[in-house]
Amino acid sequence: MAREPSARHTLAGYLPLILSAAGALGVAPFAVMRWMTGDWLIATIDSVIVTGFVFLGTYIYHTRRIRLASIAIAILCVGGALVTFYVRGPQQIYWTYPALMASFYLLKPREAIALTLSMTAVLVPELIQTFNAFEATTVIISILVTTSFAFAFSVVNSRQHDELLHLATKDPLTGTGNRRALLAKLTEVIASFDRSNSPSSLVLLDIDHFKEVNDEHGHTIGDQILQKIAQIVELRIRLNDTLYRIGGEEFVVVVDGQGIERASKLAEQLRTLIEANELLPDRIVTISLGVAELRANESPEGWVHRADQALYRAKRAGRNTYRLAS
Ligand code: GH3
Ligand code: MG
Ligand code: MG
Repeated sequence: MAREPSARHTLAGYLPLILSAAGALGVAPFAVMRWMTGDWLIATIDSVIVTGFVFLGTYIYHTRRIRLASIAIAILCVGGALVTFYVRGPQQIYWTYPALMASFYLLKPREAIALTLSMTAVLVPELIQTFNAFEATTVIISILVTTSFAFAFSVVNSRQHDELLHLATKDPLTGTGNRRALLAKLTEVIASFDRSNSPSSLVLLDIDHFKEVNDEHGHTIGDQILQKIAQIVELRIRLNDTLYRIGGEEFVVVVDGQGIERASKLAEQLRTLIEANELLPDRIVTISLGVAELRANESPEGWVHRADQALYRAKRAGRNTYRLAS
């Protein structure tokens, strides 16, 4: 699993870290007490659980591999609660509730529901044996009610997360990525270039005389043309390539894993496609493009700047053409 970018992992790793610390601190006093009273089996079980939490907390702190560690912490919580219940008896049923809540914080809603329902199924035979029918039913129903609340809460939470991500990374007019998403993508591509030396290129495109188009046809038609151009480009590029709108009428295609030759072929195809599409009845809408292949040790800004200079040369050469960055 890949390392997550630093801006995100601090926040995302916070909860699993707190949960592993709370788990370790919550169980440690019992482990100490059991060692002192010579209750070796329980003492060993509690110590294994504490060690597990400490190990996973340290693992997250050092590696930031949050997803893997979160799954392990959830399994440790649920497994720990079940073992404690089976070994130490029915009064330990209380631990299943924090274990259940932790699972919903740590896992995706569907995974958490699968884990907590499995936990309940494992509890049932012992519950029936040790509690009377009324008590056993109360425990099962209260677990199911808590599970339903936690599930509803985590579904809402995960949808809000997706919506926020969408708002933060998409251009509302065209649905393409925005400037922030471009920066994240370029950082990722540069990191991959540093590892494997595989080439990647940028195609920067800008609509020609778009101010005149707006002045003659109005802003609404201008907006529709932006949307149409985004659609045309999206349909033409490969699945691996990604499109971003970075300024009013300026777009970038990140041609992932392709050198300047392939990228300039794409630039020419996009140019002819837009020119051939009758976007307006009374004039031909055209674009100019700049193409730049990533260089060693180049920053995202430096890379975009070179593509921009190439675009500028395409404009000066009369527009409706592309130029390669030097
Ligand atoms: P050039 O060929 O040199 O690129 O000329 P241009 O007119 O396209 O360039 P300029 O930078 O002078 O003008 C860009 C215009 O793009 C200005 C504005 O009217 C239009 N524009 C920018 N953002 C939007 C938008 O979101 N919607 C619409 N409809 N128009 C926009
Ligand atoms: Mg323009
Ligand atoms: Mg422009």
